Amino acid sequence: MIADKTQYLSDQLDDLKAQGLYNNIRTIDSPMDAHVTIDGRKLINLCANNYLGLANHPRLKQAAKDAIDTYGIGPGAVRTIAGTFSLHETLETRLAQFKKAEAVVTLQSGFTANLATIPALVGKGDVIFSDELNHASIIDACRLSRAKVMRYRHNDVDDLRRVISEATDYNRRLIVTDGVFSMDGDIAPLDKLVQVAQENGIMIMVDDAHGEGVLGNGGRGIVDHFDLHGQVDIEVGTMSKAFGVVGGIVAGKQEIIDWIKQRGRPFLFSSAMTVPDVAACLEAVDILENSDELVQKLWANGKFFQTELAKLGFDTGDSATPIVPVMLGEAETAQAFSKELFNEGVFAMAIGYPTVPQGKARIRVMNSAVHSNADLEEALSIFETVGKRLSVI
Ligand SMILES: *Cc1c(COP(=O)(O)O)cnc(C)c1O
Repeated sequence: MIADKTQYLSDQLDDLKAQGLYNNIRTIDSPMDAHVTIDGRKLINLCANNYLGLANHPRLKQAAKDAIDTYGIGPGAVRTIAGTFSLHETLETRLAQFKKAEAVVTLQSGFTANLATIPALVGKGDVIFSDELNHASIIDACRLSRAKVMRYRHNDVDDLRRVISEATDYNRRLIVTDGVFSMDGDIAPLDKLVQVAQENGIMIMVDDAHGEGVLGNGGRGIVDHFDLHGQVDIEVGTMSKAFGVVGGIVAGKQEIIDWIKQRGRPFLFSSAMTVPDVAACLEAVDILENSDELVQKLWANGKFFQTELAKLGFDTGDSATPIVPVMLGEAETAQAFSKELFNEGVFAMAIGYPTVPQGKARIRVMNSAVHSNADLEEALSIFETVGKRLSVI
């Protein structure tokens, strides 16, 4: 008999299920909004990175429809071969203005923005100093670059200095950090990291995926939050979270952006964002440039939810953003908590090892500007019920 060539995958899938680590993906039968419909039930949605509620915003939807009428759907090929729509160039100009950066290039996603950027900037013989909790796309981009990667302790500037002093054999050097760390909601000390970068003449890059549309004046991001315009060499971002669409951003000096267009492999070998995505993102920029109402509401909701959960006796960690982790300890507790929430009408995700350390499992509450006060009150009362039922509070 011929051996089943993919039996090892079935075995590994069974292992994941046995360990409770198998990702069961929920099917959503409604727009991504304050509520979602799952299995015919309407639940309060506390899972999405749709911070500003733009994923189902009437203006973004209309902009996407209108752009389809003018340009169709797809870009046809990569931009270096089939040319680039004026729409993409308009979005890049508008994003650069919005972020007060010299230039911007857009990619298909935040993930590919990192893959395009890091290997284009550093390579063999170079050194990358990387926060130990950086996002998977940064880790993969660092590996692809073939530069030496030296990790420093999370948000620890002194440890960064130590690691820098230990790197003696290098050509170019790059410091890279997430802006907002999405599992805890804490913010990188970018002002201090920039200081270290400047003292040592090292390039610095921040991936502001969870800060885009959230931090800074009107959602202009972490560089604006710390007022570091012109001092951070590369700012990567995403339009898949607060912008409510999908797409990646790289912002920085003109020569960096020009270089990524020459050497960034996901730019050269993968097609551009689709027309409706670009048009919707342009509308998102327009909304953010004209009002900070959504950003303010997001922060007010996050603050309220965190304060009320703490009053109920929950451990809400050390978030400095509208992300609220509800610390539960063991993975089994977090899984059970999420299930009970689901049964009671709240969609909120349990996060456990290996995404967070052993014994630090949690429910991660993603607040948004589109939850009404009534939604939050209802969700809090369900958290209280479940918390008491499972003897967490
Ligand atoms: C979510 C995230 C990404 C990936 O963004 P996508 O646009 O979804 O590909 C990259 N980096 C960080 C830090 C993220 O949180």
